[in-house]
Amino acid sequence: MASDKIRVRIAPSPTGYLHVGTARTAIFNWLFARANNGQFIVRIEDTDAERSRSDLIEPILDALKWLGMDWDEPPYFQSQRMDHYNPYVDKLLEAGHAYRCFCTPEELEQRRKEAMAAKQSPSYNKKCRHLSPQEIEDNLKKGMPFAVRLAIPEGETSYDDLVSGTVTKQNVEIEDFVILRKDGRAVYNMAVVVDDHEMGITHVIRGNDHISNTFKQIHIYRALGLEIPKFAHVPLILRPDKRKVSKRLGDKDVAEYGRDGILPEALFNFLCLLGWSPKDDREYLPRKELIRIFTLDNVNKSNPIFNEEKLLALNAEYIRKMTDHDLAVIVAPMLVEAGYTTKYWLETRWDYLRKIISLLKERCRRMSDFVKMSGYFFFSDFDYDPEAARKRLTPEGKEYLMKLLDKFEGIDKFTKADLESGLNDVAEKLDAGKGKLIHPTRVAVSGTSKGPGLYDILETIGKDETLKRMKRAIKYIDDQEG
Ligand code: GLU
Repeated sequence: MASDKIRVRIAPSPTGYLHVGTARTAIFNWLFARANNGQFIVRIEDTDAERSRSDLIEPILDALKWLGMDWDEPPYFQSQRMDHYNPYVDKLLEAGHAYRCFCTPEELEQRRKEAMAAKQSPSYNKKCRHLSPQEIEDNLKKGMPFAVRLAIPEGETSYDDLVSGTVTKQNVEIEDFVILRKDGRAVYNMAVVVDDHEMGITHVIRGNDHISNTFKQIHIYRALGLEIPKFAHVPLILRPDKRKVSKRLGDKDVAEYGRDGILPEALFNFLCLLGWSPKDDREYLPRKELIRIFTLDNVNKSNPIFNEEKLLALNAEYIRKMTDHDLAVIVAPMLVEAGYTTKYWLETRWDYLRKIISLLKERCRRMSDFVKMSGYFFFSDFDYDPEAARKRLTPEGKEYLMKLLDKFEGIDKFTKADLESGLNDVAEKLDAGKGKLIHPTRVAVSGTSKGPGLYDILETIGKDETLKRMKRAIKYIDDQEG
């Protein structure tokens, strides 16, 4: 497939859910394609029969979509392309770039152990590379099983990595590796080369744990006389304790961040900053802007550290910048799920929901915070926060609540301005600081001492609710006393 167009791919192996590392690599590939009017494709590398799980394919694709990525062709599946690989292996055999290896697993293991004991390289000793045509013929006639190995030439191999610059390896360090297993199935490195070639991949952007595979793949490309794509190996993400981010260490799947209240736009932005930077100090970079400015030149060489606090700060920024309506669309089903209200109730009171959102959005770092912080807007029989109640719902608090209740009963239009002047009036008459009135009232109407401005809360829940809740708090204080 010859084309001048940039074509890149993400090639997840479905051995786990979509991990942040693979998601970040997908983002780099996707942005590179979108920034250069190129194409982005998805290839599921599911040839490892023991470790691949077909039930993970759908969630992986869903997570990529959730992050806002799209692909220009239907996903490819390596397991459906097994017949593509063997003709290339045959070509390599015919051209003498590969050879049949008849060594048994026991022989190989024995030699490996001996080499290790003698402190020599455990690489394959190339025994079968030197078999005569007659010996090969005889072995084949005997029906001896064989694998196929690539014959690595002498010398050294270099390539220009778009991130790390020129990388060189001595060929003695690259063993004559197996390209076709004894069961007739091509190995990973062989399949990747054939796929990248047939799919017209121009740039291979992936984690730098694949650099050693790259040398092997370059030898396959060369032996087949195929054009070698450009490689960009991006540094791996580290946890704050400097260990590699990994599922084994309990690091989360991408979808889990969604369930945890992270917006996909924020996670996309955050992951893009892990190993890439705009070379200025901006961090809030929405997708459109990233497409405009993304270049591989700005991929960093050092390992980025996954800092969850930074993700939350960025998520909070995305929340603040979204419209109340858009946030309400996301929050509404969460409130229903939490049992606070029903879909119907919300649909008929959309303005009320939007108001709540506007009051809380400055304080939310996760979407789930809207649920955590908004209970008292939906029900009045909440429990008081024990610490707040101990401090504010006291006999002294009761006196103030009663005076204020009296005042509020006489206010018809429950607007912020009227409520504020009403409260100021009472404070003045009692010659008391406003806080004396504000604090117990806040606990009475919301159950806690934190939250949006008191007058905002009162105006939003309205007169009936406010009075009811103040009476409930007065009764609570009485009960405590009694
Ligand atoms: N399937 C490989 C992985 O999940 C990707 C290999 C590649 O990008 O070439 O690590």
